[in-house]
Amino acid sequence: SPLVVAMDGPSGTGKSSVSRMLAQRLDARYLDTGAMYRIATLHALRKGVDLTDPAAIADATAGLPWSIGTDPAGEQVLLDGEDVGEEIRGDAVTKAVSAVSAVPAVRELLVAAQRRLAGEAERIVVEGRDIGTVVIPDADVKIYLTASAEARAQRRNAQNLAEGRGDDYAAVLADVQRRDHLDSTRAVSPLRPADDSVLVDTSELGIDDVIGRLLLVVSE
Ligand code: C5P
Repeated sequence: SPLVVAMDGPSGTGKSSVSRMLAQRLDARYLDTGAMYRIATLHALRKGVDLTDPAAIADATAGLPWSIGTDPAGEQVLLDGEDVGEEIRGDAVTKAVSAVSAVPAVRELLVAAQRRLAGEAERIVVEGRDIGTVVIPDADVKIYLTASAEARAQRRNAQNLAEGRGDDYAAVLADVQRRDHLDSTRAVSPLRPADDSVLVDTSELGIDDVIGRLLLVVSE
């Protein structure tokens, strides 16, 4: 039966792994909207756009030659036909993505694409920051994952380490806090839980516990 799950929350809550795994357990597709903002950011960086100039960012994004897959077993992220799945996770993009995602014209373009991609699937888990509040306010299930800044920084740092991007907990914590602040105080679509979302704090939970809870929420 048709099912749309909106999965929101800040970074480092385990949101991506959880969303992917939940989609697989639900036999659903998976859309990573953060990856879309990251593609737009990589494109702007490659074009040498001035990131303090919203009009220039909007211009660069208007002609974005990108595509994103919705297979929960492995999303394919293309920019100009090139697989940029790894590059969009790098430092340069992570540092710049808040500036790009704060531009209203960028959000309009990507939100429209997100609604189209979600509409093409019968069952889908859509992961992001504003899915339950803005992108798909009539989603069947809305989940908001939270965790302490420290727990989130620890996870991100462990992930960096595992993927060969170094080990600097203090810097990661500072970046988590910086992005939280930017994402929750920006003028357009600030990060906040939808009124009708189910809050799940993952600070003390392993991924299997989180999935177990979410499967219960979905089946209710
Ligand atoms: O989830 P991820 O860390 O990949 O998201 C990268 C950035 O994209 C976030 O820090 C946020 O600025 C932006 N974003 C957003 N709206 C979404 C998803 C991501 O503004 N729905």
